[in-house]
Amino acid sequence: MSRCFEDVAYELPEFGRKVIRALEGAGFEAWAVGGWVRDALLDAPSHDVDVTTSARWQDAEKILASRGYAVHRTGVAHGTITAVVEGEPVEVTTYRVEGDYTDHRHPDEVRFVDDIRLDLARRDFTVNAIAYHPRRGILDPFDGRGDLGRGLIRAVGDPRRRFEEDALRVLRAVRFACRLGFDIEPGTQRALVECADGLEDIASERIGQELDGIVRTGRMGWALMNEAEVLGEAIPELAAMDGFDQHSPYHAYDVLEHTARVCMAVEEFAGGMASPALRWAALLHDVAKPVTFTQDAAGRGHFFGHPKVGAPMCEKIMRRLALPGELVVPTRTLVRLHDHYVKPTRRSVRRTLLKFENACPGRAESLTFALLDLKRADAVSKVDRVAGYVVELDKISALLRRVIADGEAFRMTDLAVSGRDVMEATGIRPGPGVGMILRELLLCVVNGELPNDRNALLRSLRA
Ligand code: ATP
Ligand code: MG
Repeated sequence: MSRCFEDVAYELPEFGRKVIRALEGAGFEAWAVGGWVRDALLDAPSHDVDVTTSARWQDAEKILASRGYAVHRTGVAHGTITAVVEGEPVEVTTYRVEGDYTDHRHPDEVRFVDDIRLDLARRDFTVNAIAYHPRRGILDPFDGRGDLGRGLIRAVGDPRRRFEEDALRVLRAVRFACRLGFDIEPGTQRALVECADGLEDIASERIGQELDGIVRTGRMGWALMNEAEVLGEAIPELAAMDGFDQHSPYHAYDVLEHTARVCMAVEEFAGGMASPALRWAALLHDVAKPVTFTQDAAGRGHFFGHPKVGAPMCEKIMRRLALPGELVVPTRTLVRLHDHYVKPTRRSVRRTLLKFENACPGRAESLTFALLDLKRADAVSKVDRVAGYVVELDKISALLRRVIADGEAFRMTDLAVSGRDVMEATGIRPGPGVGMILRELLLCVVNGELPNDRNALLRSLRA
């Protein structure tokens, strides 16, 4: 790919121009910078506009507030305020350079400067160090446009020094490579591997944010194949999977490569739209294989109970990374159920829906579809002769659609009787007992032992 970027393909939005005009009208200099410029040059205008300026934050605050914009002090220690213009937040940061980093994460001091070139030099990658001004055009001292054209993530300046300053950049490099579908420039790649152990010093929630960013690009498969050392530093449990021979006639790949292939295959089966929980589950579904591995007398490898052991491991990893419960719980449930055998029968499909409903109320339908995609992806990532299971999974998906379309019961609210009916029929008082009875009834209906019919259910209650 070789492209020439004469100018940004998209107009800077009016809310960004207004901020730049206001600051420059007061005698300062201001540019759009970072993600918006990068994405606009790639014909993909992005969400927010960041502005960098020669004005100190106190001046920027006064100028923008005097124009009637709401201004928030979102990071004044680093010279950042956020102005809300036309309802859009615009981050405005004073030109700055960073002092020494002694702990791989926080610069010991932030120094404000007057030259934008110095500000661009402290940014992480060449593609993120391009400034744009509606009248003055592009300012690109590190040939970020060249790297956008070549499809390369390259550190600004000496890569090793840059990663030693701030090890989080190691994961940022992987995230941008995944998001943009770029390669990492060889010198930057070497430094990345050499400096990945600096991640030890980074707060785990910041690592979690970057990892979640990587997962959400849908390219974790690529990352596992190309950046295993880096990911192994971020999640040590992944390092244990790297090179772990399965000693199994069903498996052609070690645990990590199998996992990478599953991550890629879920994207294919989900049309590139896999949910974050499915993507995380693809990454972690076999995380317990190294700890559950046994070999029988014939030397064959087994991983008995790895989904059951893997589910709490998955939860522990994701909680450590401070990921939210609404992501952790469905992911954990997918990991636990990834080997659960779903038969091509309505009963088995309903039972699977019920398992998800119990673990993640209200999300059973989409999670059951996600489970089938995970199982498909798992099947095509072993040896060729087990890939045929996908055909059976296709039948189960069709059946799942019919079960849902027919309104078959798998939620408490689907039952033809209510808590009030239970109390009337049995005479028990309000309390947890009512819920227990309803759950039992639901289980009988899901198992096909009772029809979901009001009279039949009431009769069984009185029996
Ligand atoms: P996104 O679309 O993910 O927000 P972005 O490029 O805007 O992409 P941000 O994390 O919002 O990324 O950061 C804004 C800009 O700040 C980056 O483009 C980069 O120039 C700079 N930057 C952010 N984090 C770092 C860092 N750790 N080291 C150096 N520069 C950074
Ligand atoms: Mg941004």
